[in-house]
Amino acid sequence: MTDTKPVYFFGEGRADGNAKMKDLLGGKGANLAEMTSLGIPVPPGFTITTEVCNEYLRVGGVIPARLDADIEEALVRMGRIVGAGFGDPVRPLLVSVRSGARSSMPGMMETVLNVGLTTKTREGLIARTQNPRFVLDAHRRLMMMYADVVMEKAQGIEPEEGEGVRARLEREMTALKKKRRVTDDTELTAADLEKLVAAFHAIIRKTLGKPFPDDPREQLRGAIDAVFRSWNGKRAVAYRRIEGIPDAWGTAVNVQAMVFGNTGDRSATGVAFTRNPATGENVFYGEWLPNAQGEDVVAGIRTPRPLNRAAAEEPGAGSGAGAGRGKKGARKATVAHRVVARGLVASAAGAMTGSRFGAAAARADEASSTLEDSMPQAYGELVRIRGVLESHFHDMQDIEFTIEDGVLWMLQTRTGKRNGAAAVRMAVEMAGEGLISRDEAIRRVRPEQLDELLHRRIDPKAEARVKPIARGLPAGPGGGTGVIATTAERAEALAKKGKTVVLVRNETSPEDIHGMHVAEAILTAKGGMTSHAALVARGWGKCCVVGASGIEVDERRGTVRAGGRTYKEGDTITVNGTRGTVYAGSLPLLPADPESNAHYRELMGWADAVRRLRVRTNADRPEDAAQARAFGAEGIGLTRTEHMFFDEKRIQAMREMIVAETAGARRKALAKLLPYQRRDFEGILKAMQGLPVTIRFLDPPLHEFVNLDAKQTARLARVLRIPVRQLAARIAQLHELNPMLGHRGCRLGITYPEISEMQARAVFEATASLRKKKVDAIPEIMIPLVGTVTELADQEAIVRRVAEEVRRKTGVDFPYTVGTMIEVPRAAITADKIAQVAEFFSFGTNDLTQTTYGFSRDDVGSFLPEYLERRILPADPFQTLDREGVGTLVEMGVRKGRAARPGLKIGICGEHGGDPASVRFCHRIGLDYVSCSPFRVPIARLAAAQAALEDR
Ligand code: PEP
Ligand code: MG
Repeated sequence: MTDTKPVYFFGEGRADGNAKMKDLLGGKGANLAEMTSLGIPVPPGFTITTEVCNEYLRVGGVIPARLDADIEEALVRMGRIVGAGFGDPVRPLLVSVRSGARSSMPGMMETVLNVGLTTKTREGLIARTQNPRFVLDAHRRLMMMYADVVMEKAQGIEPEEGEGVRARLEREMTALKKKRRVTDDTELTAADLEKLVAAFHAIIRKTLGKPFPDDPREQLRGAIDAVFRSWNGKRAVAYRRIEGIPDAWGTAVNVQAMVFGNTGDRSATGVAFTRNPATGENVFYGEWLPNAQGEDVVAGIRTPRPLNRAAAEEPGAGSGAGAGRGKKGARKATVAHRVVARGLVASAAGAMTGSRFGAAAARADEASSTLEDSMPQAYGELVRIRGVLESHFHDMQDIEFTIEDGVLWMLQTRTGKRNGAAAVRMAVEMAGEGLISRDEAIRRVRPEQLDELLHRRIDPKAEARVKPIARGLPAGPGGGTGVIATTAERAEALAKKGKTVVLVRNETSPEDIHGMHVAEAILTAKGGMTSHAALVARGWGKCCVVGASGIEVDERRGTVRAGGRTYKEGDTITVNGTRGTVYAGSLPLLPADPESNAHYRELMGWADAVRRLRVRTNADRPEDAAQARAFGAEGIGLTRTEHMFFDEKRIQAMREMIVAETAGARRKALAKLLPYQRRDFEGILKAMQGLPVTIRFLDPPLHEFVNLDAKQTARLARVLRIPVRQLAARIAQLHELNPMLGHRGCRLGITYPEISEMQARAVFEATASLRKKKVDAIPEIMIPLVGTVTELADQEAIVRRVAEEVRRKTGVDFPYTVGTMIEVPRAAITADKIAQVAEFFSFGTNDLTQTTYGFSRDDVGSFLPEYLERRILPADPFQTLDREGVGTLVEMGVRKGRAARPGLKIGICGEHGGDPASVRFCHRIGLDYVSCSPFRVPIARLAAAQAALEDR
């Protein structure tokens, strides 16, 4: 039992709740309350709190009795406002019942519309509206939704032969349409619908074994119950796992007076974004359908129309309009967008009729289908509300509206999901418009979102040479290529086999999210820019094309028919999510080029100005170093030298060195490796000239290099001119039971000092040679896997001796430092001693996590998924730094290290260096830099800036 109020009312300009109460009222309920208080037209209603949901689930699925009186009272108030009564046979009030969690879970939970419609109230509504067709249409919709959601799914009924009640009802309706020779639902007459409703009653009774409830209160109870239950539905649970939403949040239920977008041609429904969610451009963007209810827009049953001319001009607006539209169209759209943006102040509807749109007006057929043209007054009001909402919420809003007989009603507003490019553009432009501060702009973009700007795209040259096999709407930018899978299950199975997958569906539903998650790209035959597939892909920043109406997907056969050919599952296709095109086969993808994006550059400039942490990169090749530098890396934090030995010739020399049984033989092999290493180091030091480059000495688990089958062993024996048996024995001798804890890291350099000597020589000769050419090479030598200061001292002596030798021999003086990785607990614990020798520390949190938990890095796959599933661990500690355990050791290392050597330079080069949450931690504990893979450099820069802002 909770002591807070279970029901919050809103209506007629007054609301019990407000936008700050999302925890209690869910996002939708809190914002309905806020909009009501702002004087925006919102149909009256009430929100049942998330606490009631949790109580409901706790007691095993019973709606608490104390709710009854509150609900009754709220229904009476709603009725008073709209001049109707719930269950009143003369002036009936109908309600919608919708879920609404704290953070939006699009389509994951249930909605029931038109609740309260019965045989009796139906007659009253017909008499009042004089519109029997509309009333009967509402009735058949209620029956379809209710039977499916409340009577079947919520009861956990598994449909016979896999065909649920909804499918049966839909089959009946399709048969009727066929009989009447019509294609659109709206073409069915009142008489048709009356028959259909009668048929529905019979089908429901036959399929589910009980009658459809003809009582308004029973309907309402059933709908509330179904929404609560849907919190624990399969797809909601799956979505929460992926998005990391806690199970304990629960959902609120919003019961609201129905307004109807399906009463006739003066009615409509739509969804819109106050700015374009795909590009971020400041243009009102949306889709609508005349004479329809909300589900029609999102379900992809009818293809929605563009909201305004600007949207009609936008590549990808409307039914395939984006495909093939040339540059000219795009430029015109930009003009239109600016006009709309200014039109916010005056009347956009007025501004849009200006002569500038002569060209657009020429396409009168397309333009006339916009809301702007069809219902200019309601559109004007919508534009006004767009302005109110943006200036109130200071962010892009995703809104749902309905127009009933020319009158506009707002049904929802929430912060709109957007892709990375759009997030960056909106943040920068909103700061420019004075809507938010620069600091807020930095906070607005989730660091991970930058990933999308860093996305690959199809090589335009290669793309120009091929013809698309299909076109659709560009719902998620970037390019993706992979093998076709037509179901989520197969997508998952193929991904598990290591394939990159393009998920191709007629349309996606929340049941598909696991398949969407693993897919490289998503392609659907149906749906608009606000369809499920588009929303989810945008949220995740995936390459996605929707509404490719020319394709036919047969998921039973696993085939896709496109451009006159049939493609099978396993065939490769390529998707361009920026243009909305699809190609047969695989096209080459180009690396991303965020630096060409002015908004990105601006935002990153602001971020760099506030962050304190430096950001370096982990790179082993000059081209990676150059890429990272272009992304803003301020040095190399880790060069793994063992990665330099994987090419054919080098690996031979490496193997020779490893299996060598004497120092002499080892030196011979090392002499072969020296020139390679010198060249590698020259390349990297040059690419990073002027910036520090941390080169780590050899640290491979040795078996990785001599993991040979019989044939390979024989070949190596031939090269080494030794008997196979002798080689096999040596390899067996090298075998370790725990290679991760074995002969690796500095242990290698200590037992085989000639290896460290060769590496030091290669580094310093490269440095001297570059410096002679006036290249500012700055090497930092890093010793791996140190646990005691004596290990480090041993290696340091070798490095310093070789440095002196090279200086003497070349006559070049050069700077260098010697430091160590802190990656075993003993190193962190004795950091004060180690710092007496080390000139810098770099936390190797991969090994430190391995050795702190005692989890093998190579073997966690066997149990970690279950740990995460059962919440034994909150996150994968190899991805996000475990602050409590590993983090404590890192903090201790920093404290002790700096106590012994004030100003000691400290960084991190484990995978965590590019994880935003871990970057925040690194900032907090005072590290000097993080180092991560090149593509995560921008992400780390932004995360570091956000961490700095948190301090303020
Ligand atoms: C580490 O252990 O964190 C590290 C960076 O080194 P490696 O991953 O190469 O073992
Ligand atoms: Mg390591």
